[in-house]
Amino acid sequence: MKIKAEYIWIDGVKPTSGLRSKTKILNFIPSKISELPTWGFDGSSTSQAEGGDSDCKLNPVWMCKDPIRGEDNILVLCEVLNPNGTPHSTNTRRPLENIENQFNHLSPLFGIEQEYVLMDQHRPAGWPNEGYPARPQGPYYCAVGSENVSARNMVEDHMDLCLDAGIEISGINAEVMLGQWEYQVGPLPGLEVADQLWVARWLLERVGEDYGLWPNLHPKPIKGDWNGSGAHINFSTKPMREKNGISVIEKACEKLGENVDYHISLYGAFNEERLTGKHETCSIKEFRYGVSDRGASIRIPMDVSIEKRGYLEDRRPASNVDPYLACYALIKTTCEK
Ligand code: ADP
Ligand code: MN
Ligand code: MN
Ligand code: MN
Repeated sequence: MKIKAEYIWIDGVKPTSGLRSKTKILNFIPSKISELPTWGFDGSSTSQAEGGDSDCKLNPVWMCKDPIRGEDNILVLCEVLNPNGTPHSTNTRRPLENIENQFNHLSPLFGIEQEYVLMDQHRPAGWPNEGYPARPQGPYYCAVGSENVSARNMVEDHMDLCLDAGIEISGINAEVMLGQWEYQVGPLPGLEVADQLWVARWLLERVGEDYGLWPNLHPKPIKGDWNGSGAHINFSTKPMREKNGISVIEKACEKLGENVDYHISLYGAFNEERLTGKHETCSIKEFRYGVSDRGASIRIPMDVSIEKRGYLEDRRPASNVDPYLACYALIKTTCEK
């Protein structure tokens, strides 16, 4: 009996980490993550070590069915460790694990909206080789019809792959720019939403190979009057979800307003190109929260305001955000005294 286990990890490239993976043949079918062997890789090729001392360790942390290879094959998300077993400096998962254990009693939940632009070489999918689409922004958001939609087959394939793998994808939609799409993962606890988002990103890259398209996670891939890409994070704790939780939500917004620079520093690279105050964003230099306000930093959804309980939406994280870091920051700022 042989199966293929695709070991996936996050590299150390600055300012935006990418995904790496390689295949390990196993002669058994693991039933839980702890049965999977650790592995190693050449950290000098991933900006995670110097050439003279290049070994880094892969420690399996989350696994699912491999929906591309099928059968008993699996995907194995790993955290990166130093040879002595301590977390590597690029391991942003471990701090989230620690803080989540500390605030377990508040059961934080996250739903992340991953926006991205599918690129056909150097142009967004569906764009002409030169210049711009026939229409400016307007008709593309949640559109149907080949005039206003591109690359839907790949997007549908990605959604099916996520469902098949057991990833908690909760929806997809075409976005405001032609070639721009979104999928949502969650609501789930922080470690789970972040692990699953990284694997969903890997699946999108991988299925893109079959279509000759690549997902661009730059928060402002096309300059000018075209929407950038974000990764809105919807966040709640148990007290926010309970009766009159709105007061806890408002308190959390106030605390977020006192820690703006800290959050922005963890919300992704090149985000200043996106958070301009235009295109459904709040300027990076301001902080505002409000009900139903898509021009605010934090939006309190209309339903939440009516029900007086629920969650908040932090609209600032960029499409290239590391979800481990962002979830960590949201718990740290809103849950610590
Ligand atoms: P938008 O209107 O901003 O486009 P979406 O429907 O794309 O909203 O995303 C909303 C997200 O909020 C989903 O990912 C969903 O899982 C998440 N969500 C819903 N309820 C909660 C909650 N109580 N806590 C955290 N996230 C939640
Ligand atoms: Mn959305
Ligand atoms: Mn969106
Ligand atoms: Mn949103």
